[in-house]
Amino acid sequence: MSASDPGRVRIGLLGCGNVGAALVGLVGEQADTIEARTGLRLEVARVAVRNLAKERSVTLPEGVLTHDADGLVHDPEVDLVVELIGGVEPARSLVLDALKAGKPVVTANKELMANVGTELFGAAEGAGVDLLFEAAVAGAIPLIRPLRESLAGSRIRRITGIVNGTTNYILTRMSEEGATYADALAEAQSLGYAERDPTADVEGYDAGAKVAILATIAFGASVVAGDVAHEGIAGVTTADIAFAHRLGYEVKLLAVAEQGDDGRVAVRVHPAMVPSSHPLASVRGSFNAVFIEGDAVGELMLYGRGAGGRPTASAVLGDVVDAAGNLRRGTCASIGALPRATIRPVDDARSEYYLHIEVLDRPGVLHAVSGVFAEHGVSIRSMEQEGLGDEARLIFITHDAAESAIQATLGALRGLDAVDRVTSVLRVVAP
Ligand code: NAP
Repeated sequence: MSASDPGRVRIGLLGCGNVGAALVGLVGEQADTIEARTGLRLEVARVAVRNLAKERSVTLPEGVLTHDADGLVHDPEVDLVVELIGGVEPARSLVLDALKAGKPVVTANKELMANVGTELFGAAEGAGVDLLFEAAVAGAIPLIRPLRESLAGSRIRRITGIVNGTTNYILTRMSEEGATYADALAEAQSLGYAERDPTADVEGYDAGAKVAILATIAFGASVVAGDVAHEGIAGVTTADIAFAHRLGYEVKLLAVAEQGDDGRVAVRVHPAMVPSSHPLASVRGSFNAVFIEGDAVGELMLYGRGAGGRPTASAVLGDVVDAAGNLRRGTCASIGALPRATIRPVDDARSEYYLHIEVLDRPGVLHAVSGVFAEHGVSIRSMEQEGLGDEARLIFITHDAAESAIQATLGALRGLDAVDRVTSVLRVVAP
C-alpha cells in the first residue's frame, strides 16, 4: 500500500488470459464505484505473462506488461498479488514468495488450492496476510465466504454440487435433445465449453479439485484432490437418460462432500440420477449450483455462472477489495493451519443404485440375476424388462445399499453366463 496515499492499492497480476484480461477490464470499469464505497483506489500496476508478443484483448499502459513473474512478486510498487496463471508450479512458488513478502494474494486456481492449499494457508497465517480464493470453486458463485462466515453458525452435513459446466452442458444436451455423449461433447468443444483434451472435465478431476476445497472449508480439515473418488460421465448413454426420465429423474454429474457423526469425511464425484423435483435437477447447460445441508440452516442452494472470464473475474475482484481493505486496516482473515481430515473409504458409502444389464433372453435368467442381488444383501426396489431380439435389457433400482455390496453384486453378475454385460451403474439420489 502506497505510503504517500494509503487508499491506493497497486495490484500485481500474474497471468492475463481469459480471467486475467477480464479482471483488468473490470478494475477499469469498477474502480470509481469501489473507491466511492470503500475509499480504496485499485490500480493494475504490473502484469506478468509468458509470451510478451501475444495479442491481448485489453490495452495496458507502457511498461506494465512483463515476463518476469518473480520480479513482479518482489516489486515494491506492488501491494497485492493476483495469481491467474493456473496449475501448481510456478503458481505455488510465486504465491509463497508473495505471502512471505507480506503481500496478500488472491487466486482463482483450484488445482493449486486443492493440492497445496494447506501449505499456503500456513504461509498466509505466518505472514499475517490474506490468501483468498473465492473464484477457485464455481467461478462467480459465492461459496467460500458463505461457508466460512455466513454458515459458521451451523454444522454442515453435506454439500452436493454441480460444479463443472462442461459436463452439465453435455448432460443437458443429452437430456433435452437426445444427443449422444460423443455428439454433445463435440458440440461443447466447438463452442469452447470443453477443452480439446476433455479428460479433466469428463472424468471428474476438475469437479474433484473443487469439492476437495469445499470440504476443507465446510469441515475445517484439510481434504486434497487425491482424497476424492471419481467416476466420469463417458459411460452415460442416451438409454440411461431415457430410463431416468421415465422414472422421474435427471442424470447429473455430482460432486459430494459429507461428514458423518464420527467426523470422517467422504468426498466423491460421480454421475447420479437426481429426482426431477430436486433443485439440482433444474440446473441446465453450463450453469453451476451447490446444494448445502446443515443442522441449523436446513437446505439451501447457491446457483450461477461457474466459469467464464468476466463472471470469474467478478469473484476475483470481490476478493481483491476484501484483501485490500484488510491490508489497509492491518488485519487479515486467514484460515490458518488445518488438521488433516480423516477420509471415509468410498466402499462404506450408501446409496440407492440404478443398474442396466443386458442378458440373454431365455428362461430362468431373471431368477438367476435376482438371486445374485439377494446373495449380496442388495434389495430390489423396482425392475423393468425389455426384449432386444435374442437379448433382454433388465433395469433395476435397488433400495439403499453399501457401495461394497454393489461392487460384489456386479462382480458376481459379470460372472454369470447369461449376463452379456452390465451397461451402466448410477447412484440414485433420494428424493
Ligand atoms: P489462461 O487463459 O490459460 O491464462 C493463463 C495466463 O497465465 C496467460 O496469460 C499466460 O500467459 C499466463 N502464464 C502462464 N504461465 C506463466 C508464467 N510462468 N509466468 C507468467 N505468466 C504465465 O487461463 P484462465 O482461463 O484465465 O484461468 C486462470 C486461472 O483461473 C486458472 O487457475 C483457472 O483454473 C482459473 N479459473 C478459470 C475460469 C475460466 O472460466 N477460465 C473459471 C474459474 C477459475 P500468455 O498469455 O502469455 O500465454
